[in-house]
Amino acid sequence: MNQAIVEDVVSEVMRRLGGNGAARSHGAGSSGSAAKQESAGLSHRPNMPDGEYGIFSKVDDAVSAAAESHKKLVKLSMDDRDAIVKLIKSTAKQHAKAWGEIELQETKIGRLDHKIEKLQILELVPGVEFLRTGATGGSNGVCLEDYAPFGVIGIITPVTHSVPTLSANAINMIASGNSIVANPHPSGTNCAAIAVREYNRLIAAKYGIEHLISCIVPPTLESAEAIFQHRGIPLLVVTGGPAVARAALAAKKRAIVAGPGNPPVIVDETACLVNAAASIVKGGAYDNNLLCIGEKEVFCVSSVFGELMNQMTRSGGYVLNSQQIEALTKAAFTKGDDGKPHVNKQFVGKDAAVLARAIGLDVPPTTQLLVGETDADHAFVQEEQMMPFIPFVRVRDVNEAMDRALQAEHGFRHTALMHSRDMDRVSKFGRLANTTLYVVNGASMAGLGLGGQGYLSYSIATPTGEGITTPLTFTRYRRTMVTGAMRMI
Ligand code: NAD
Repeated sequence: MNQAIVEDVVSEVMRRLGGNGAARSHGAGSSGSAAKQESAGLSHRPNMPDGEYGIFSKVDDAVSAAAESHKKLVKLSMDDRDAIVKLIKSTAKQHAKAWGEIELQETKIGRLDHKIEKLQILELVPGVEFLRTGATGGSNGVCLEDYAPFGVIGIITPVTHSVPTLSANAINMIASGNSIVANPHPSGTNCAAIAVREYNRLIAAKYGIEHLISCIVPPTLESAEAIFQHRGIPLLVVTGGPAVARAALAAKKRAIVAGPGNPPVIVDETACLVNAAASIVKGGAYDNNLLCIGEKEVFCVSSVFGELMNQMTRSGGYVLNSQQIEALTKAAFTKGDDGKPHVNKQFVGKDAAVLARAIGLDVPPTTQLLVGETDADHAFVQEEQMMPFIPFVRVRDVNEAMDRALQAEHGFRHTALMHSRDMDRVSKFGRLANTTLYVVNGASMAGLGLGGQGYLSYSIATPTGEGITTPLTFTRYRRTMVTGAMRMI
C-alpha cells in the first residue's frame, strides 16, 4: 500500500468517524485503491455505521452488544475459542504492513518497521492452552479447578501501541471466554476501529458473533468514565500512563492496571560491552523508545564508561556533547505549572534524526539512538521520555549504580535491566529492584519473548501485580468438588 493510498483511506475513515481528516473523493482512479484495500482486509473500512461489527458511539450500546456476544461465546467449544484466537492472530499478521502504516500515519509516533513487527509477533500471545483444568484425586473424591470468564471487560488502550494492545488483550480475553468494550486513545482510534471491525466481520462470518470486541468511537474521557462506572462491566483493564492508572485504581470495581515505567539499565565493569551497547540500542530505539519496558536511562561504572560510549557509536548510537544535550533538553521538556519538567509531546516517538535536527544537527542515516552523558537528576533520567535519546550517568561503582537505578525507577516496579557477568550482583539488583520484568544481558524486548524466552503481552500489570498478562489473568477461579465419587483407581 503506497503513501497516497494510505492517506486517502485514513482521511476517509476519519471523515466517517467524525475526525479531522479531509474527505477525498474516490474518483475513476480509485478502483485500484479499492482492490488494494480489499486485499488488506479493509474493504468495509470507509463505511463504519454505528452498531455494526463492534463500532459504537454509546457505551450502553457497546456493553449490551458485548454482553450478548459473551453469552454466544461461552456456548462455543474450546476448540472454537481457539480458532477465534488464531483468526485474530492470522488477521493481524496478514494486515500487519497496512495496519502498521495506518497506525503510524494516524498516531505520528514510532517507527514503521516496528509498528509492523508488533502486529506480526502477536502469535507469541498465549491463548486457550493456558486454561488447563487442575485435578486432585484422593480418598474423598475428586477436586477440579477451572478458570471461568468475568463476562464483559472494559479496556483502555494507549496511543503508543493502539492496535497491538487491543489485539493482544482480545486474544487473551477471548481465549478465557470474555468479550470486550474498548476505549482507545483518541489519537489511535481509527486504526483500532479498523482492526476491531475486521476482526468482528471475520468472527461473525464464521461463528455468528458480531460484537466480541466493541470499540467506542469517538472515545472521550467521559466514555472512559462511563466504562469505569458501568454495572455491566465487572472488570477493567487499563494500559497507560500515570493519570489513567490513578483513575482506574480509584474506580469502584476491580481494575488490572498496566501503568507507566522508567526502566533503568546498569552496566558494570564485568559486562560484555559490545553486547550491552548493541542491546541498549536495540531496546532503546525500538519504535523510537515508545515501549514501556524500553531502556530509558543507563548507569555505567566509570572504569568502563568511555569504552561503553565507544561501543554505542559502533552499534548505531550517536553521542551528543553537553551543549547539544542542553539544547535537546530545552526542546524536549517544558516547565509545568508545578515547576517540574514535562515531556514535550512533539518529540515523543520521533526519529533520532528529528530530535537531532531540532538542535541543528545532521546525524548519519544509520543513527537509531542519540545518547550522551548527564547527571543523575537530569530530566531525561527522571522522566519517562519515550523518545530516542538515552542519558548515560557515570557512577563510582555498582552499588551507586543500584541506588541511582532504584531511585530513577520511582517504585513503579515495572522493568529493570542489568549487564553484568557477576551473578551475585545480578541476583542482588534483581531482588532490590523487585520489578515485574528484569532483563539481564539482553535488550528489553527479550523480556517479552522477542529474542528471549516466554510469551508476549502488551499489558504489563504493575501496580496491581498481575504481571505480564495471560488468559488466566482475566479469569475467575472456580472449584468443583465431587465428594465420594470419580475415583477411578
Ligand atoms: P496515556 O496515559 O496518555 O493514555 C492511555 C489511555 O488512557 C488512553 O486511552 C487515554 O485516552 C486514557 N486516559 C488518559 N487519562 C485518562 C483519565 N484520567 N481517565 C480515563 N482515561 C484516561 O498514555 P499513552 O501516551 O497513550 O501511553 C504511554 C504510557 O502508557 C506510558 O506511561 C507507558 O509507560 C504506559 N504503558 C504501559 C504499559 C504496560 O504494559 N504497563 C504498556 C504500554 C504503555
